[in-house]
Amino acid sequence: MKVAIITGVTGQDGAYLSALLLKNNYTVIGLVRNDQPNWAGLAYLKIKEQVELVKCNLLDIEQVRTILIKYQPDEIYNLAAQSSVSLSFEEPITTFEFNTLSVFNLLESIKSINKEIRFYQASSSEMCGKVNQLPITENSILHPLSPYATSKVAAHFTCTNYRESYGMYIACGILFNHESYLRNDSFFVKKVIQQSIQISLGNQTHLEVGNIDVKRDFGYSPAYVEAMYKMLQKDKPGDYLVCSGESISLREIIYHVFSALGISRDKCVANPKFYRPNEIQNIYGDNAKAKRELEWDYDFSFYQVLDLLIAEELANVSK
Ligand code: NDP
Repeated sequence: MKVAIITGVTGQDGAYLSALLLKNNYTVIGLVRNDQPNWAGLAYLKIKEQVELVKCNLLDIEQVRTILIKYQPDEIYNLAAQSSVSLSFEEPITTFEFNTLSVFNLLESIKSINKEIRFYQASSSEMCGKVNQLPITENSILHPLSPYATSKVAAHFTCTNYRESYGMYIACGILFNHESYLRNDSFFVKKVIQQSIQISLGNQTHLEVGNIDVKRDFGYSPAYVEAMYKMLQKDKPGDYLVCSGESISLREIIYHVFSALGISRDKCVANPKFYRPNEIQNIYGDNAKAKRELEWDYDFSFYQVLDLLIAEELANVSK
């Protein structure tokens, strides 16, 4: 039985990845930062009892080393991060500190304890920020536009540096935005769906938004974690873009959700409070390498994903 450690197990991807690894007969150890972790996602997927939650401060290398020695993992999936672009503008230093130092501590521990441990790093399309050419590929120039993106670039290059310097098995998944029912409430798509349902129920008057003419490449988290898993099963490690291959504007998302719930478009109101200091205007990626080399199968349009998410949210609202 293989052993996998997942950092960020309480997040959206952590829950779906845990479910996938359990299905593949792994022992799953989830690292959490405090004594009262938010295991709602694991409970929602009915796998809370099957994942062993272990407290670990990833900023303390001795704690990381102790856990690696104790559990002797075959694979580590590093998903823990301050993952909000908006929050990173408010908390740039703690975002950068956690998102980079945690990676150093994990890689240094692997290097000194067992270089055979396979490591997955959650890199991000935000690293490409200022877009020179579309679609983004694995060879695109990185130019971050937020403290979050800057931290992910530093972590990403730390990973490639350890891979090239020490021959370690390190794969970086450069994932584009992906959503699910388990997405944190503060993220755009989840927020739009939740608040639109409240509008349709008469509990809320309107939806306040920032700049909704930006476009992003959105996908479905349960399918994206499959790509993460596949990356660590290859003979050789590499970097892979995981994306849908097309972009959609935030305005189109809102109008699709409004239309599904019978809400008129004038219920969408701009509020400058939600505008960001700097923002990617349009981005989408090329998923050919992931499809070819990982045999990753993905053919959802984001409208299909939205319909799934609306149905799941409605089913849970009415419970
Ligand atoms: P979530 O925000 O849902 O989960 C983040 C996880 O990181 C949570 O388990 C959280 O723990 C943990 N975490 C955050 N800050 C800290 C900290 N200071 N110390 C310890 N743990 C911490 O993210 P997702 O699941 O959506 O994303 C997984 C990874 O993929 C992240 O690294 C993210 O940056 C990256 N990514 C995500 C994309 C997306 O669209 N979802 C796109 C590209 C990359 P807690 O529950 O305690 O808060």
